[in-house]
Amino acid sequence: MRIVVKIGTSTLAHPTGHLHIRRVESLCKILSDIKNAGHQVILVSSGAIGMGVGKLGLPGRPKDIPSKQAAAAIGQCELMYTYDKLFGEYHHTVAQLLITREDTEEKRRRENFINTLRRLLELQALPIINENDTVATEELGIGDNDTLAAVVAKHIQADLLILLSDIDGLFTADPHTHPEAVLLDRVTKIDDEIRNLAGVSASGQGTGGMVTKLHAAEICLSCGCDMVIANGRNPENLYAILEGKGVGTTFTCKEEPQ
Ligand code: GLU
Repeated sequence: MRIVVKIGTSTLAHPTGHLHIRRVESLCKILSDIKNAGHQVILVSSGAIGMGVGKLGLPGRPKDIPSKQAAAAIGQCELMYTYDKLFGEYHHTVAQLLITREDTEEKRRRENFINTLRRLLELQALPIINENDTVATEELGIGDNDTLAAVVAKHIQADLLILLSDIDGLFTADPHTHPEAVLLDRVTKIDDEIRNLAGVSASGQGTGGMVTKLHAAEICLSCGCDMVIANGRNPENLYAILEGKGVGTTFTCKEEPQ
């Protein structure tokens, strides 16, 4: 299978902004194992701004664009250093791709990007993608990595997109305020009823929320790629997802297996 895995800032970092070492080590180990099993893995990783904030010792995520961009420039190095080191332990070679909205929207630039991505997969490398935050301002950029990951999954014809976040999936209500909320395990179309469940659920550290995740699901469903939202707190979930064990919320247009 060709799998795109998106990791959000809240999965990668503690609330302090510093790396969640145990979790990231475990994620890299499991993704290496999944690659060893013969799957193609593409990582879309957030965390540049978050890691930059941690490294600079800033009190919180900056609000102004130049400070965010500066934090991203610093944090992106830290992020890739970490991935290079951890995947290197399992003999996997990482590759960094920083892209902007134009790279996904303009045909020639998109073709160049996808050609590079395909070649990296042929070379058995592990592509790690983030938005090029140092040049993509919020107004002009893709803005969130849920959408970016879905766009990548669509153009690279992935079989599955996994969004690892700090929530277990899509609930019938906000589980923080409604303890009776039920996790939806399978969604086959994004209609107004589903959209109404999204609310605004951005965590303190990242950019996305359920709204961007449902937008990603729409992109995936439109091109026949399955998508799963699962909690990144337990990286072992990745194995269960690949074994079809019903972790998180699955978005699919395929018939339910009997
Ligand atoms: N590109 C941003 C970063 O690396 C993350 C965007 C997002 O959280 O969706 O910090």
